[in-house]
Amino acid sequence: MKAILIDKNDDGYKARLAEVDEARLPEGDVTVAVEYSTLNYKDSLAITGASPVVRSFPMVPGIDFAGTVVASTHSAYKTGERVVLNGWGVGETHWGGLAQKARVKGDWLVPLPIAFTSRQAMSIGTAGYTAMLCVLALERHGVTPDKGEILVTGAAGGVGSVAIAILAKLGYTVVASTGRPHEAEYLKKLGAADTIDRAQFSGKGRPMGKERWAGAVDAVGSHTLANVCATLRYGGTVAACGLAQGMDFPATVMPFILRGVTLAGVDSVYCPQPLRRQAWERLACDLDVALLESITTGIALADVLETAPKQLAGEVRGRVVVDVNR
Ligand code: NDP
Repeated sequence: MKAILIDKNDDGYKARLAEVDEARLPEGDVTVAVEYSTLNYKDSLAITGASPVVRSFPMVPGIDFAGTVVASTHSAYKTGERVVLNGWGVGETHWGGLAQKARVKGDWLVPLPIAFTSRQAMSIGTAGYTAMLCVLALERHGVTPDKGEILVTGAAGGVGSVAIAILAKLGYTVVASTGRPHEAEYLKKLGAADTIDRAQFSGKGRPMGKERWAGAVDAVGSHTLANVCATLRYGGTVAACGLAQGMDFPATVMPFILRGVTLAGVDSVYCPQPLRRQAWERLACDLDVALLESITTGIALADVLETAPKQLAGEVRGRVVVDVNR
């Protein structure tokens, strides 16, 4: 099978397109013919070696995939079933989706919702499923459309783009924070009511600012997350899932103890099955599939290597879907 393979040895850290014997696939009770995978921010960290995402070598990266079961000893999955996988350390500690085949634990899989083709499922991918988890977190904390504006940071990226589309369809008023003003039209087509320059959030801010946001989806972390917390309205919630600006969180407790705001952490990797299935079911009703094409750039497996550094540089818009058979 064709796969992206990452090696780390005396020659250094290197990702390459390789022919790999399927006999080398890791243990698992379900083997999947992968149709599409994607390039998530974490995949780009893994492929470039910019961050220690990969824990064992050689590794096939790819934290998500969609495809068809070709062999299974798992009671819930039969040959021919269409499945999707997100996380569980796949592409980090267990060979992942940037290959023509993957072998995983059946317990990690989710049946592909009939609303989506495998390509559409990967247009959503882990970034989009995480965006849905963020929206579910806002809902759990009582952030309803009537409460006021919702800020989405990292707006033109994968998580941000899908979050805007979902929130707008649900009737929220969304403000998209971006460093790419030329993407304003794209963000408004997804449903953003307005855009805002991310520079307003990216520097060191005050412990508390003027109350504005009823809720927020933050894919950026660092000063941005601190400034979002400082400008949430009384009782507001930010769903924090990312670190595109940095993993630090230079904030004070003031917004928490004086405005009762909530910092809701969102993890997609080890998210329990009931919540991940709920997220995929909600994506099937709350995301306009017609928007997916405008969010998506399609690439071949071999293109992954040159696209990864561009994604880390913030040059990739929306989602990158990888046709592993092209
Ligand atoms: P993308 O690369 O697609 O998007 C990230 C966006 O963040 C960029 O498009 C850019 O948006 C913005 N950005 C980039 N660099 C900076 C910076 N220095 N300062 C401020 N903003 C910046 O990544 P994804 O959307 O796929 O992922 C976003 C984040 O979420 C990543 O950190 C990723 O690791 C994390 N993530 C976490 C998950 C979890 O389980 N918790 C799951 C999936 C993703 P713009 O150009 O509009 O400003």
